[in-house]
Amino acid sequence: MRTKLIAGNWKMNMLHSEAEHLFKKINEAAIALPKGVDMMVAPPALYLSQLADYSTSRVGVGAQDVSAREEVQGAFTGEYSAAMLKSAGVKYAIVGHSERRTCHGETDVIIGRKIAACVKAGVIPVYCCGEVLSERESGKHVEIVSDQVRTALKGFTASELSHLVVAYEPVWAIGTGKTASNEQAQEMHLAIRNLAAEIFGSQFAERLRILYGGSMKPQNAAQLLEQPDIDGGLIGGASLVPADFIAIVEAAAL
Ligand code: PEP
Repeated sequence: MRTKLIAGNWKMNMLHSEAEHLFKKINEAAIALPKGVDMMVAPPALYLSQLADYSTSRVGVGAQDVSAREEVQGAFTGEYSAAMLKSAGVKYAIVGHSERRTCHGETDVIIGRKIAACVKAGVIPVYCCGEVLSERESGKHVEIVSDQVRTALKGFTASELSHLVVAYEPVWAIGTGKTASNEQAQEMHLAIRNLAAEIFGSQFAERLRILYGGSMKPQNAAQLLEQPDIDGGLIGGASLVPADFIAIVEAAAL
């Protein structure tokens, strides 16, 4: 039985006081929420340390990215290491988000290094993968995403990845208001789980949490989250609206 995870990616939004306010609102609301659903929010990096100090066992804090360098520290301007995240109380790091892939040229080889840095430091990697629209229209979406997963997870053992979270995020659904249908999402989640079983064994695959991301909202969350291989959501836009984020957590608890 996998515990569902609802994760909010705040991206480059909110000034400091607004971020603080939103986090406090989510924390307050979380007290009344049904147990049995994990929650995570990923604020801009600047606010991580402070929000991690406020975080409770109900709502963990995650980074939106992490350095691929395995060094704990060094002359790498602008970078922050997984060890630094851990030392600041940050529990998760999103790696390989499609916006990082597009705007910063991140490849699955680089993303694999970020996963390795997280594993070494004890930070839970949330690995994002997903196809663009032309790849889906060509019918090659499963093959493309499988290649991404194989490359990023190459060389790891099952025990190193025991806390790994995968987020399937079709790029055409991120921030567009278009959501994958329940069937499209379930098909890909099952394919990822089968691939994980092939590489790391069936026990690993059974425990692996695979989130769906791409315009998940209160209106479509329940149907997506009831699919057998969807173990939660990575939420962008709706995670900035406390009532919407909370409603998605409630849908996950149904
Ligand atoms: C995301 O950025 O990971 C995402 C899924 O965004 P949205 O929910 O806004 O589509």
